[in-house]
Amino acid sequence: MNANTQFFRDTWAEINLDNLYKNVSAVRGLLPEGVGIFAVVKANAYGHGDFQVSETALEAGAHGLAVAFLDEALSLRKRGITAPILVLGASRAEDAALAAEHDISLTVFQREWLEEAVGFLPSEKNVSLHIKCDTGVNRLGVRTIEELKELERIMDSSPQLVFEGVFTHFATADELDESLYQKQFAAFKEMVASLREKPKYVHAANSAASLRHSQSSFNAIRFGISMYGLSPSEEMKGLLPFPLKEVFSLHARLVHVKKINPGESVSYGATYTAEGEEWIGTLPIGYADGWIRRLQGQEVLVDGKRAPIVGRICMDQCMIKLPHEMPVGTLVTLIGCQGDESISIDEIAEKLETINYEVPCIISNRVPRVFIHNNEPESVENKLIE
Ligand SMILES: *Cc1c(COP(=O)(O)O)cnc(C)c1O
Repeated sequence: MNANTQFFRDTWAEINLDNLYKNVSAVRGLLPEGVGIFAVVKANAYGHGDFQVSETALEAGAHGLAVAFLDEALSLRKRGITAPILVLGASRAEDAALAAEHDISLTVFQREWLEEAVGFLPSEKNVSLHIKCDTGVNRLGVRTIEELKELERIMDSSPQLVFEGVFTHFATADELDESLYQKQFAAFKEMVASLREKPKYVHAANSAASLRHSQSSFNAIRFGISMYGLSPSEEMKGLLPFPLKEVFSLHARLVHVKKINPGESVSYGATYTAEGEEWIGTLPIGYADGWIRRLQGQEVLVDGKRAPIVGRICMDQCMIKLPHEMPVGTLVTLIGCQGDESISIDEIAEKLETINYEVPCIISNRVPRVFIHNNEPESVENKLIE
């Protein structure tokens, strides 16, 4: 492990880059020749670590990266990533020059933006742009062929605005009912057909669409959640073309162990009371790490078996009920496998009544990420002391 990267607390997430590589390679194998992969690494790669995930995804055959905001793209450039990067969200027109300087492609969908951006670009700087078409999400994008063609015309007339791509985004590609998906797909095809010239990249599919539908119509996909080994939805689990391998796991070690007596309670609010003599272990992870209070009652794995979190989850710690006395330092897995038992991100999402996407995203940067490569811990990222 690198000597300059370390942590001083017995809580960490493991990011299995071997599994990430396999997920990207597998989707690569599914795509027709000539269809590129934008690995979606927004939000610190869905909480996994954007720099390390980017490097691995690019090695595994992704041609470029996609993020939500310009800041995220700049952070990757600062760390030496030279691959194409597309910002999917809105950027400010006045930041077009910054994007141009760092060779970062931006998403556009307003004529005013283009007119303004030209004013901010030094004469020798060109910025690469992807037009977003709104075919039904009603989030960002031009809604009509007329608007699309107008943006194309403005870009054609200004050499500093490079029309590099056109794309749309699906609202329901992960649902069994395909009606809205088909409607959006047809609308986008029609919009693309109206262009005078097709740009370098024409892309629509997220993970769900990439895994379910042939990608022969367009020439790139934007692959996010399934790169991390997660199904885009519960209902899609039966439709996956290859087994996904989960990348994220979460671990801690017991920092204190004691026996409490019948009638004694545990943690703030005294919401849990021991019925008999019980062995209670303390874990150094709490809601400030994203292990939120709603996870009270959730099970963790210790010695290959399930053990419940008892009492309120505190800001920095929580307590579990052990099956018997165990030494301080015992490994506890909050997400991941121990022996034959496993706790998936989907199980945590279900407990929290949310989607799997949200779970690794909310594990805060106070939790160091340990990167596994060739089955060995290879490096650590601890945002607190770097
Ligand atoms: C986040 C995002 C994606 C990736 O979606 P997944 O479902 O994670 O594959 C693709 N496109 C856009 C525009 C996004 O915002």
